[in-house]
Amino acid sequence: MYDYVLVGAGLFNATIAKCIKDKNKDAKILVIEKRSHIAGNIYTENIDGIDVHIYGAHIFHTSDKKIWDFVNGITEFNNFINTPIANYKNELYNLPFNMHTFYKMWGCIKPEEALKIIEEQKKEIKGEPKNLEEQAISLVGRDIYEKLIKGYTEKQWGKDCKDLPSFIIKRLPVRLIYDNNYFNDKYQGIPSLGYTKMIENMFSGTEVLLNTNYLDDREKYKGKYIIYTGPIDEYYDYKLGRLEYRSLKFETTKIDKKDYQGVAVMNFTERDIPFTRIIEHKHFNDRGTDTTIITKEYPVNFEIGDEPYYPINDEKNKKLYEEYKKLKTDGNVIFGGRLGSYKYYDMDKVINEAFELLKKIL
Ligand code: FAD
Ligand code: UDP
Repeated sequence: MYDYVLVGAGLFNATIAKCIKDKNKDAKILVIEKRSHIAGNIYTENIDGIDVHIYGAHIFHTSDKKIWDFVNGITEFNNFINTPIANYKNELYNLPFNMHTFYKMWGCIKPEEALKIIEEQKKEIKGEPKNLEEQAISLVGRDIYEKLIKGYTEKQWGKDCKDLPSFIIKRLPVRLIYDNNYFNDKYQGIPSLGYTKMIENMFSGTEVLLNTNYLDDREKYKGKYIIYTGPIDEYYDYKLGRLEYRSLKFETTKIDKKDYQGVAVMNFTERDIPFTRIIEHKHFNDRGTDTTIITKEYPVNFEIGDEPYYPINDEKNKKLYEEYKKLKTDGNVIFGGRLGSYKYYDMDKVINEAFELLKKIL
């Protein structure tokens, strides 16, 4: 009998394991992971001296000093700041939406000029925005919506912008200053030795069983607490129906050049290009290698067997998730993380959720 059985070796359970061990080094913890490696979706692999973000680009950002101090106490972070470029039919725009974007789009130099154009364009939306399209137009106007949002968003989510919830676009800052930092958060960076090393440190001294699907033999693993970070609908054998997810396919290529695109992230915002972005991994943490590695990210419909990367937090799925939560009769099973909680959480939110849980179980 273990004290804690942690299902999934991603960031959520790594936070749980580290904090428990820090408090009680004798706690008996077992981690069960179905993949062949730890770190979940933040897994990085050092290939030819470059930390390749195998499951998509991950930039750590937070405004919470406690969380920033926590991760910096585990591993060193560099000073990377994300400044992605949007490519619309080879017209290049800065992201997030800021004075550089507005200058390129409309030629306006002063904030008040940009504001005037946005105010004019948003007049077409009457009342509270009811969906992502209306939300986007009321934030930045129709020109930016058509070139930089509509195509990208519809391929990312496989749905019309009129059928998507508005909160997705509210993730992106809109600024009337010249500032290309993609995030508003106070702290930002990438682990200098890669995320996998960070997670390795967090699981240090903890027993980890790889290549093992907990659901194949759940009776075998007994613990005072079972902390499950896989999909909640799968845990219950989909008995209330399937929650929807969005999946991705990654196409990674080594290129015999020092530099391919001059930036870590380039978004392709037109509908007809099937991938959403090209990541050039070396720019997250450049060690001066002679070659480079890029990844094209293709959004795809989620089928059983695919990785459920993004929960789709619309009303229909939120309701179904609430129904699944009510099924929880087994007192010692706790759901957590991006899949267990079915939330579009960034890494800092995942750590925060783990901190909250620790208050109850430690
Ligand atoms: P996961 O990392 O998904 O870990 C869950 C683990 O459980 C997985 O390893 C899985 O294999 C395992 N598992 C599932 N079921 C079972 C089972 N039955 N038995 C055994 N093991 C099981 N956040 C940011 O802050 N910044 C970013 O830039 C950013 N970029 C992102 C880009 C992409 C493409 C994606 C998909 C996410 C991004 N995120 C980003 C979010 C970030 O990936 C998550 O917040 C974080 O990885 C979630 O950690 P987790 O432990 O909850 O889940
Ligand atoms: N988005 C967009 N154009 C872009 C980048 C993002 O329209 O060039 C929209 C899109 O709807 C996306 C959302 O903003 O789903 C959030 O973007 P973010 O970069 O936060 O997405 P993630 O990194 O989570 O995939």
